Amino acid sequence: MNIHEYQGKEVLRSYGVAVPNGKVAFSVEEAVEAAKELGTAVNVVKAQIHAGGRGKAGGVKVAKNLDEVRTYAEEILGKTLITHQTGPEGKEVKRLLIEEGCDIKKEYYIGLVLDRATSQVVLMASEEGGTEIEEVAEATPEKIFKEYIDPVIGLSPFQARRVAFNINIPKELVGQAVKFMMSLYTAFVEKDCSIAEINPLVVTGDGKVMALDAKLNFDANALYRHKDILAYRDLDEEDKKEIEASKYDLSYISLGGNIGCMVNGAGLAMATMDIIKHYSGDPANFLDVGGGATAEKVTEAFKIILSDANVKGIFVNIFGGIMKCDIIATGVVEAAKQVSLSVPLVVRLEGTNVDAGKEILNQSGLDIVSADSMADGAQKIVSLVK
Ligand code: ADP
Ligand code: MG
Repeated sequence: MNIHEYQGKEVLRSYGVAVPNGKVAFSVEEAVEAAKELGTAVNVVKAQIHAGGRGKAGGVKVAKNLDEVRTYAEEILGKTLITHQTGPEGKEVKRLLIEEGCDIKKEYYIGLVLDRATSQVVLMASEEGGTEIEEVAEATPEKIFKEYIDPVIGLSPFQARRVAFNINIPKELVGQAVKFMMSLYTAFVEKDCSIAEINPLVVTGDGKVMALDAKLNFDANALYRHKDILAYRDLDEEDKKEIEASKYDLSYISLGGNIGCMVNGAGLAMATMDIIKHYSGDPANFLDVGGGATAEKVTEAFKIILSDANVKGIFVNIFGGIMKCDIIATGVVEAAKQVSLSVPLVVRLEGTNVDAGKEILNQSGLDIVSADSMADGAQKIVSLVK
């Protein structure tokens, strides 16, 4: 789960990680009020969306007085920001962070991420902060330094010190930088983060080391033990169809294509997406209705697929094991009745109660194209949406 920058900074502050003072604002008036309360000469007005690259897209503005705070807040709130992380449709800004302006001397990069290959948390750092770390990794990989962290021992101060020296933190500030990294690591572990990225980490004119940006991601499977983090969830930032699907316990992920897929089992769902691609089609979603799905659940799944305006055809690919073909067929027919099916539907059923399932579909009066195999079904739906 992803959270906003201002929320990430709240978490970090509670662990003693240095961050600038700031306040969240949901309206222009609140933004001006927040700046007054901060009482600093210069404030930064920052769009809060679940995506980076806001600076380049006009979502981070330095305001030298309260009038400028108002002007920038008016400009950014309600605006749809398009950054390299939002996708072409962009994200609407509904919250702002009004933050104390910082006298930046130099920007660095610090990140903690779980390295799946070594099963260890890795601390990554670079002197090239502010820019996208992917670009640094591409152009000058030698400028990224890594420390792998033993999960039993945790981050050792000597490792943090080595990183600080490698990225050329001024000598007199190495102590602060080490404390920063140690606290960041504690926060990462205690809160079950999957990513903690500070870009930029800055050294200021008055000799402070602090996080000017904070991107924290959390392991969704650990959220049951972090009610405080779960409270940060912002449903505005999530795909409406995915929220709906989670209510029915469906594994649904929305994708960019135009062929809606309804499948049982994650493996078969992946294979179905692959075979659609193989025949030059493009799946609109990943959907695993699960093993013990009821007709009601299948109906909801079908409605979610159809609520996607990009869907130009549907491929139902079911292998009835625990899931019975007649249940799926009943759900499909029920959903098609409720939401008037206007796109082609290809169904491939195999396994338990397949004959009963086919019979239900035949009797339904729906315009269904039946397929004998996965490959047959994929070819049929691809040609029907063309
Ligand atoms: P993003 O990564 O989404 O572009 P950042 O929070 O990293 O957003 O902000 C972009 C840039 O804006 C930073 O690299 C920094 O130069 C500047 N900036 C951000 N916050 C402040 C602040 N409080 N004071 C001064 N400059 C800031
Ligand atoms: Mg940033």
